[in-house]
Amino acid sequence: EMLRGKRVIVTGASTGIGEQIAYHLARMGSHILITARTEAKLQNVVQRCLELGAASARFVSGSMEDTAFAQHVVREARTSLGGLDMLILNHVGASYFGFFDGDVEHVRKLLEINFLSYVAMTTSALPMLKESEGSIVVVSSMAGKVGFPFTVPYSATKFALDGFFSSLRQEFTIQSINVSITLCILGFIDTERAVRAAAEVLRERPAPRDECALEILKGAALRRRELYYRYSSTRLPLLLRDCAAELLDYLVRSRYRLPAPPGA
Ligand code: NAP
Repeated sequence: EMLRGKRVIVTGASTGIGEQIAYHLARMGSHILITARTEAKLQNVVQRCLELGAASARFVSGSMEDTAFAQHVVREARTSLGGLDMLILNHVGASYFGFFDGDVEHVRKLLEINFLSYVAMTTSALPMLKESEGSIVVVSSMAGKVGFPFTVPYSATKFALDGFFSSLRQEFTIQSINVSITLCILGFIDTERAVRAAAEVLRERPAPRDECALEILKGAALRRRELYYRYSSTRLPLLLRDCAAELLDYLVRSRYRLPAPPGA
């Protein structure tokens, strides 16, 4: 009910968690603007959203590598929806799963997609969100709270999100700006990309993406500062961070089936 009739942007909604968020919003009767690069998939998601009961559904396709595109999506919300109540930043650029390969250009590109475009969209959307006293939802990861092996560039972009959005939240409080920021700390979720990349090497079972999407929306609607899903594999281990950091590092490494060291 809290999201009925609300105007929401969901990025990275052509597949995975973003797609599921769009379907939940549709069932709740929201106005939805989705974005990603693959037009054909976005068309299908929009169609399904309309069938599920969305108040309206539309898409804009393009790449978040380009800051101008990020700003264009927000302008589209003003033009077609007349404002914005919730900005859900969820897209993620492709990266590799393996030891850091020293490719600085890849880190730069990933920062542009996973971090700078989030900053650009937030900046452009802020006037509308202030007007509606709306919400910003930032989809991050356990890898943005504690060091993770094999995803060094990705983890760096997720840590950057925490720094930017947690600091921005402080400034909103000081300035009495009533725009909530919910940082979502996710564990392993069963999206195609994540399962393809990590199912063989991770010892844990992935959590369902539709439930994950619903938890994100609940956290957002309740204007929570952080959302942990699943709680047991994210929040609980993170309690060790300040008092037993090395134990936490060990627990993170023990999630992987590591290759035997050379000569072993
Ligand atoms: P996913 O299935 O790979 O979906 C990624 C989305 O981002 C797709 O819609 C993709 O669509 C879009 N995208 C990729 N590159 C883009 C670009 N350059 N410009 C614009 N859009 C782009 O990802 P997911 O697993 O659902 O993850 C969603 C979020 O959850 C991410 O922020 C991720 O870091 C976080 N998370 C996921 C897991 C997990 O285990 N799945 C764990 C922790 C955190 P196109 O290819 O059509 O552009």
